[in-house]
Amino acid sequence: MKHWMAPDQRKPDDRKWGSIRGNTAPFSRVDFRRCRSAEIVHCIFRPFLRRTIRKLGLIALLLFVGCSGMEKSEKEKIRRQNCKGELIYRNCNEELYSIASLTPQPRPRYPWEGENHLPRITKDFFRCKGNVLNSPYVAGENQAELLHDCEGSGRHGFPIIHGKENVYPILIDLLNYVQKKTAKRVIITCGHRCPPHNTYADPTKENLASKHQIGAEVDFYVQGMEDYALEVVGTLMQYYQESPAYAKDKDYQEFKRFTGSGVETDPWMNKEIVIKLYEREEGRDGDNRHPHPYISIQVRYDRVTKEKVLYNWQKAHKGYPKS
Ligand SMILES: [Zn+2]
Repeated sequence: MKHWMAPDQRKPDDRKWGSIRGNTAPFSRVDFRRCRSAEIVHCIFRPFLRRTIRKLGLIALLLFVGCSGMEKSEKEKIRRQNCKGELIYRNCNEELYSIASLTPQPRPRYPWEGENHLPRITKDFFRCKGNVLNSPYVAGENQAELLHDCEGSGRHGFPIIHGKENVYPILIDLLNYVQKKTAKRVIITCGHRCPPHNTYADPTKENLASKHQIGAEVDFYVQGMEDYALEVVGTLMQYYQESPAYAKDKDYQEFKRFTGSGVETDPWMNKEIVIKLYEREEGRDGDNRHPHPYISIQVRYDRVTKEKVLYNWQKAHKGYPKS
């Protein structure tokens, strides 16, 4: 029996299958049949299998959706079966009471929130907040200056004002007035700063002549009125209207605005003080690392000596131990 045929004796179909499979060697009819059955599997059975899998997937999806819907309807059915209600019996002459519309009322103060329960502000509230435990850090234009904080208010006092260690009394009077009027606690974030702590808290050139060093400046906010700093500014101005010492003196009672101070809100100024409002993103030096807007009061005129209050190196450094 002849199993092999020469290439030129092959049927056209044989040549075709041979070329499809990339096999140039001659092959028999048995191989041809094998190839044909494999092709039937490839061409007919596989598409059929794919279609079946798709249909099964679709059926599974429909079953899932249908079951979840059935579950919901079943829950609703159980809920209705278990619902209990009561009939409300009414008389024919019943009247409905109308409810008064609600109006916001200020919260009554707690006993400890009154003015009498707040500590009276004294010069001790203004003490320097420097601390020897604060870590030194590198600053300066060339990053070559190592700054140390001061040793704290236990090692130095206040500047000499009117012959004794003090801060300017008008600052104390104004802050006590704010506490009295608002019945809320004044938080002094920065009162007096000794020169080392002044540099440590804010090493910029603009801060070199800060009046914090001579007890003529204070930064503060009012607890509970953090977002109402403008109202606090109004209270400060009201002090000059109500205080008998300034009665009918327009130089003190009238405040003017001025520009070019470097803060978003133009400051207010009368003959004696300057009021600056620092917004949340402004004036964040070492002593004012809190999230609230704060107010700064600077003294610009001394009513006792009748002189302008200006930064002075002697005033700032007097009484401090030499390092
Ligand atoms: Zn200090």
